[in-house]
Amino acid sequence: MDKIWKEMYAAAKAVLAPRRISEYVTAGEVSAAVLSKSGKIYTGVCIDTCSTLGICAERNAIFNMVTNGEQEIERVLCIAPNEKKCGPCGACRELMVQLMPDTYKDIEIMLDYKTGETITMGELTPHWWIG
Ligand SMILES: [Zn+2]
Repeated sequence: MDKIWKEMYAAAKAVLAPRRISEYVTAGEVSAAVLSKSGKIYTGVCIDTCSTLGICAERNAIFNMVTNGEQEIERVLCIAPNEKKCGPCGACRELMVQLMPDTYKDIEIMLDYKTGETITMGELTPHWWIG
């Protein structure tokens, strides 16, 4: 596994902090790191609410990247509870396709950090519902 995946894992691990924020909101049970085209790593945590207002860690990290002026993703890694194998859900995949409709298939996803198993978005989502 290369150094960049290790840096992404360390960045995601640094923000992984499961906590209850209020009676209705928990956060930090899953964390994610996104590598942008410029080589920066952006992180995010999941935020779960009682009425679907929350967000996945991956999309939170992608929004963090967009907030900071970038829009091209090269790699995505998430850390799930108990570090189980984990890939982006359908909503997160949809966001990546819409952000990068011509190049999303090149995005690399770390599925299992323990074994180093990766997959591309092209393998996960070979066909999009538009076009
Ligand atoms: Zn998701």
